Amino acid sequence: MIGRWLSRLRARREQRIVERRTISDALWLETLASLPFVARRSEADLAELRRLSSLFLDEKEFSGAGGLEVTDAIALRIAVQACLPVLHLGLPLYRGFVGIVVHPDEVVAPREVVDDDGVVHQYDEVLSGEAMGGGPLMLSWTDVRDAGESADWAYNVVIHEFAHVIDMADGEADGVPPLANLAERRHWEAVADEAFQSFCHWVDEGRDTTLDPYGASGIDEFFAVAVEAFFVAPDGMRAEHAQLYALFAEYFRQDPAAQPG
Ligand SMILES: [Zn+2]
Repeated sequence: MIGRWLSRLRARREQRIVERRTISDALWLETLASLPFVARRSEADLAELRRLSSLFLDEKEFSGAGGLEVTDAIALRIAVQACLPVLHLGLPLYRGFVGIVVHPDEVVAPREVVDDDGVVHQYDEVLSGEAMGGGPLMLSWTDVRDAGESADWAYNVVIHEFAHVIDMADGEADGVPPLANLAERRHWEAVADEAFQSFCHWVDEGRDTTLDPYGASGIDEFFAVAVEAFFVAPDGMRAEHAQLYALFAEYFRQDPAAQPG
């Protein structure tokens, strides 16, 4: 009884937010036109994506850095791509942070590592996005803007960073999203580890892969690049990692390769 009452209350609350945060038809269509991997989804998926995007825009706080003004069009372009992975899981997975900082372009971050001999090495890392536990999340607008074209090489910075958020939702960046029980976790680790080992081997051989070779740097990055590819280049991802594809399809409750068009 209480459960049903609560879910009715939540539905009413969400409906009020969606009405307050209405996305105009013009802006919605313009956004879809820039994201072919989203535009090819079914009418039902698109309606739910639009509803979730309104809720997402209400929950998150955008800020521009380096002189960038975050317009409604920029915020929606990010919201739609961020909501795609959680289309059938809902926004609670993104509850761990609020702020999204958008830079005009990539950001150079000074890094330091200490090697085994205790020698400090300084270097610059170029970032198109970054997700930290507890946020904020950082994105390069140039990379977000070009998502339609970069889908051809399985690259999507928004989905990549939000995959990290999903991975970290259970407290650890270990390439395993929150799961119901230990058995599910063991199954996930077995499938993902096997795919990761094959992938690292292919990268060592210099083989051309659908997934970004950057994924070989660790199991957390492998998860992020595999999720990216699952949503924007699903055919290539499925061809290379059939079992991982099936695991993702079950987890995300979506089968992007089965979409028409
Ligand atoms: Zn990453």
